[in-house]
Formats: sequence, C-alpha cells, structure tokens
Amino acid sequence: MSDLLRIENLTVHFDTDDGAVEAVDGASFSIRPGEIFGLVGESGSGKSVTALTILRLLRPPARIVSGRIAFEGRDLLALAAADMRHVRGARISMVFQSPRTSLNPVLPVGAQLERVIRLHAGASAREARERALAMLRECGISEVERRAAQYPHQLSGGMCQRVMIAMALATSPRLLLADEPTTGLDVSIAAQILDLLRDLGHRTGASILLITHDLGVVAGLCDRVAVMHAGQIVETADVRRLFHAPAHPYTRALLRSVPRVDREFAMEPIPGAVPSLLAPPPGCRFASRCPVVMPECRIERPAVTLLEVDHTVSCFAAVTPVRAGAPAEGGDG
Ligand code: SF4
Repeated sequence: MSDLLRIENLTVHFDTDDGAVEAVDGASFSIRPGEIFGLVGESGSGKSVTALTILRLLRPPARIVSGRIAFEGRDLLALAAADMRHVRGARISMVFQSPRTSLNPVLPVGAQLERVIRLHAGASAREARERALAMLRECGISEVERRAAQYPHQLSGGMCQRVMIAMALATSPRLLLADEPTTGLDVSIAAQILDLLRDLGHRTGASILLITHDLGVVAGLCDRVAVMHAGQIVETADVRRLFHAPAHPYTRALLRSVPRVDREFAMEPIPGAVPSLLAPPPGCRFASRCPVVMPECRIERPAVTLLEVDHTVSCFAAVTPVRAGAPAEGGDG
C-alpha cells in the first residue's frame, strides 16, 4: 500500500543569538491511508514542530534546513503558497491541544463550523447549516441546535474539542493531525474524545497522526508508532511489537514510566532530561540517560536499522546486544 504521507530526513532549526536549536534532526517516517499513527515522546522532543512543519505553519526563527514531506505524491515543502493553502484545511487539518483558545471567542460555534463548510465546500447557507448540525451530532454532541448557538466559553473543554474535531473533519481531509488532543480534559472525557477520533477515522477513512507523550493513549488507539527523543526518531514499529519487543532503551524507559493498574511495582520516571538541542554533542542524544550506554555511543550517531518489517531502531545496543555480565558504561543522568 503506498504511503499517504512520507517524511524523509526532516531537519528543522530555530535560530537564536546563541546558535541554532536543532529541534528536529533527520526525522523520517510514513503514514499509510486510513491508519492511526502515533508520534510519541516527552515534551520538547520535536513532535509538535514536526506537525507544524507538515502544515508549513512554522515562522522565523524556525527554519527548515532539509528534508522532504511527500503527501499524496507531492512535496509539500516545494508547493506554492496558494497550493499549500488548499492542502491545509481541505486535505490536511489539525486539532490543537487547547480547543477553547483555538475557537473564535466572539462567534457561536455553529457559525464557525458553517463558515468552514461554506469556504471549502461552496455550500449554500442552508446546506452549510444542515451539514454543521449533522457534523456536531456525528461528533457526539446532543441538543445540537442549542449547542450550535453557544459561544466557546459556554461549552466545557470536552465539548469544545468535539467542535474542533467537527471543524477539522468538515472538509473531509485525508489526514488529521491531532496534537495532544486530550490535554487538560479529565480522564473519562479524554477517553471519549479518543474513542471519537478512532471512530471518525474508521468511518471517514482519514489517516490520523496522533501526537502524544502518553504511551497508554498510543496502546489504545494507534496502528503504528514512531518514538521521538530530542528531535530524532529513535524507533518505529507496529504498536503491538513496540509494546511486546521494544528495542530502544528510551522506548523501554517510556514504557516503564506509564502508570499501570495491572502491576504491583511503581512506575519509574525516566532519569535525566531531554538534552539541550543548542549544539548537542555528537553521538546518541540519549547517551546521558541511557542505562546501557557504550563508549561508541558518545562518538557516533547510531544508524537506522531495520529489525523486521515495520520495525526500525537507532541504537548500537539494539543491534549488538549487551552481553550478560559485560560492564555497561552506566547512565549519568
Ligand atoms: S545504547 Fe548507545 S546508542 Fe543505544 S540508546 Fe543507549 S546510548 Fe544510545
């Protein structure tokens, strides 16, 4: 099956007075039609920058240094601004993490949705109204006529996110970018929003790029996943494989940091912090936090290795396992 989106060797810097912050460094992954793809990592790992780069919404001091983003066969980074405006919204749309601030505070939510439908579908006012109400219903909102007349501040956070999802899907995009869509929502509402995204993805056939720091969310929703650390993709895998046979020490640390009710021992926070991306040292960016770091890790960047179909890793230890009893250098995070 050919890819809907293919990101190749994407590198994005933020220019500062002290030098370039290497926010995304050589990231590559692809998303297939109809799949839910997770991009997971701690805060500051470059996930959101990657999503904004796909939509070409980054502004200076951000700078795309290199890479290619192929979507439906066209390189988005080479598109004219007018063509990119058409892609944005009509073919790719985005759900942000703070729905209330993403909505227009002085316009009823129904009117906002109608505006999007009229703009993209060229619908009449009446058609747009009917379609808007149907979309709100599809997104699990009851009493749609009353809700459509309300302003964002009159709706709960979960309700605002449902409206945002309706707006994002109103143009029948082929790819939906969802950046931490459940931030700030309580657990049961968050679960409902994730269920909604999964159902709508399956029903519409749209692919979803789900950006999250939470592997628990990935487990419940995604087909495949890329793990990002300090601006680099360190592992990609089918979601079952990632959970059953994680190959990268960072992925394993992330898994140990997820709270679970089915085990007695406590979750372990990941030691250390994401390293500074302002002139980062050579070698593996996880070296200062890695429990199995080896001398070569601090010199050379590990190459991407294909472990099996749909499973890649960038780690010396994952392809040359540490021998039992062999002294590891020890993490210093
Ligand atoms: S073993 Fe080396 S290459 Fe692998 S994650 Fe640890 S420091 Fe990086």
